[in-house]
Amino acid sequence: EPGQPVGYDAWRGVWVFVEQNQGEAQPVSWELLGAGRKLADDLGVELCAVVLGAQVAHLADMAFGYGADKVYLVDNPVLARYRTQPYLHAVESLVRKYRPEIVLIGATGLGRDLAGAAATRLETGLTADCTGLSIDKQRRLLEQTRPAFGGNIMATILTETARPQMASVRPYVMPCPPYQPGRSGPIIREPLGLCEEQITTKILEVIPLAGEGTIDIASAQVVVSGGRGMGAAENFRLLEELARVLGGVVGASRGAVAAGWAPHGRQVGQTGQTVRPRLYIACGISGAIQHLVGMQDSDRIIAINKDPTAPIFEVAHLGIVGDALEIVPVLTQKLRECKAEIVPH
Ligand SMILES: Cc1cc2nc3c(=O)[nH]c(=O)nc-3n(C[C@H](O)[C@H](O)[C@H](O)COP(=O)(O)OP(=O)(O)OC[C@H]3O[C@@H](n4cnc5c(N)ncnc54)[C@H](O)[C@@H]3O)c2cc1C
Repeated sequence: EPGQPVGYDAWRGVWVFVEQNQGEAQPVSWELLGAGRKLADDLGVELCAVVLGAQVAHLADMAFGYGADKVYLVDNPVLARYRTQPYLHAVESLVRKYRPEIVLIGATGLGRDLAGAAATRLETGLTADCTGLSIDKQRRLLEQTRPAFGGNIMATILTETARPQMASVRPYVMPCPPYQPGRSGPIIREPLGLCEEQITTKILEVIPLAGEGTIDIASAQVVVSGGRGMGAAENFRLLEELARVLGGVVGASRGAVAAGWAPHGRQVGQTGQTVRPRLYIACGISGAIQHLVGMQDSDRIIAINKDPTAPIFEVAHLGIVGDALEIVPVLTQKLRECKAEIVPH
């Protein structure tokens, strides 16, 4: 068939790497199973989950619940904590043996490390931070869409001449599919084929991150973000108060982060975090494309901006044209009053 790369018929199936830490799965893995389900159905192939770790068989059951047809499981004490070498060895061995046509990995710190290493070892292409995945059914190719050239265009990338086609997707970019209890399927257990003595890196101590800047804005249900329009670092206090009354967290544009008004961990956008909260309030943010790609899939977006032509209003469900420094405190006060009416004290 014209345009069809030769020799790829042996590569079949869509795989999702299930990332876990101490037996607890990263939700992005389930989001990817949701996306993978559609791809597998379009291709008419199985959706498989790859579960690696120590004592992680329970994650195989969860993977079925989130849509997997089959699970490849490597359960070995050597995999208790993530290290590139043994995880890469496991992924590479599985891929070479079972030949999936597509491999999806969450674009977390761990996922970025593993995906890059695996793509290099397997001599295939990897499209990082995809925001859209679909199938060109005629050519049986994965269409991997992501922002390019500083976010000014969306590029659709194909891996035409190598297998598997590898893509990473950031957390909260894809919706999480509903969990279907009682779903089950075959579990293929594979040995790791590597022992501790063969691994050059040792984990001596695990020090958890702590501090203000490490609040996880990506998983927050409400994000109140400030941009350069907030005018000064101290005005972010107004956003903190609004976020507190809504049970949310404060995010920021790169403009505000560059000005030193918020830590980088709070930055929303292409070079920050992707958020998908139930409510996103953008205060004094112009709505540059690099910001929009990190928040435009929020359920509800409210924008407050002095400039009625600001691009943020194009994605907002509700726009307020005015001074954020005046509007935010009024909004906070009104919400406090509403809450006081609902819960009298
Ligand atoms: C490769 C690359 C990656 C990038 N990554 C990111 C990213 O991850 N995240 C990100 O945010 N940006 C990113 N940027 C930067 C992005 O292009 C914009 O420069 C940035 O988002 C602008 O921040 P801002 O909206 O706070 O500031 P501005 O664009 O300066 O907008 C300020 C807005 O505030 C409004 N305003 C002013 N005063 C008030 C007031 N009192 N009340 C209400 N509104 C007011 C103004 O009308 C204006 O619309 C990236 C750029 C590049 C090139």
